[in-house]
Amino acid sequence: MTLSVMFECVRCRFRSGLDAWFLGCPDCGREGMVSVLEAVYPGDARPTAAPFGATRDGFWGFAPRLPVPDAASRLTIGEGNTPLVRSRRIGPALGLPELLFKCEGANPTLSFKDRYAAVTVSVAKSLGFKKVVVSSTGNYGASVSAYAAVAGLPCVVLCADTVPALVLEQIVHFGGQPVVIEGPDRFGLVDYLVSEHGWFPAGLFLETRVHNPFGVEGYKTIAWEIVRDLHDVPDAVVFPCARGNGLYGTWKGFRDLHELGIIHRIPRMIACQPVGSATIAASLQAGTSVRLSPNPGERAGRGRRAQVRGDRRPRVRRGSGGGGAQPWHRGHLGRGQLRSRRGRCRAARAGG
Ligand SMILES: [Zn+2]
Repeated sequence: MTLSVMFECVRCRFRSGLDAWFLGCPDCGREGMVSVLEAVYPGDARPTAAPFGATRDGFWGFAPRLPVPDAASRLTIGEGNTPLVRSRRIGPALGLPELLFKCEGANPTLSFKDRYAAVTVSVAKSLGFKKVVVSSTGNYGASVSAYAAVAGLPCVVLCADTVPALVLEQIVHFGGQPVVIEGPDRFGLVDYLVSEHGWFPAGLFLETRVHNPFGVEGYKTIAWEIVRDLHDVPDAVVFPCARGNGLYGTWKGFRDLHELGIIHRIPRMIACQPVGSATIAASLQAGTSVRLSPNPGERAGRGRRAQVRGDRRPRVRRGSGGGGAQPWHRGHLGRGQLRSRRGRCRAARAGG
């Protein structure tokens, strides 16, 4: 089955088919700008999975709205279809009796990033890449390792020297090869392996440090599953964010459902960022689509701090009617509540 997924620049409307888009829009790049590409689909591309159906179709039941046209390249280890459970303590304590948790810790490598990695590594396989490299500070490295193993592709995970030993063990457990790098040079090594040896970069774009346009599409399945399991649209979705890819992908899933006429409104999307790292809040408050500061948890490689045009996350917040960004830290929850939150919904604290 051939699908006509296209990739379109959010700034200049450059448009092309599936390819190794690692550096953002090529036309904008020639102008010295960095701009992201976004996957777009034909209006009649409908997932085979019925969002209100009784069956729990697999992740790839949404394939017509995912950027992997080649069915033989679609990788799965049972990602998605995570439980949506009602909060017994935190919701009532906050006056939100209908508060639900989407328990992404039920994914194969215990992280919602399996949705991202499933699509990204499938694209690598579809494009014929033979090796995968990713720079990761945590669970994404383990996730990419698992999918690369399924694809039969060697995977090197470049880790900061602050990564705990347990995470390194997890990467090995899922079939990856962790390499610990001191300082910011791991980004330079990604660049080298990709440009000189043809490896597939499963994480950030090279140099510009913008995520690839493939994996974020996998997060759309979160929206599909929520609507399917609720048989309704939630009032709001509160998403823990670092860069905000998960927030964006989930919003895009709701938008797809809306465009297909399956739902008639899109929930408010509320980004939660740690105090001191509220990049989305800063962009919203300044009224700009330019991401104003890099993730403070990540060092800007080689001193470069590119401004990314058309960053999508502030647009999501405005487009969905989401409220102001609500930075939070552990002090915002009582200790007992925090223990409860950790125990019941591990992935809720994962950023993306
Ligand atoms: Zn462009």
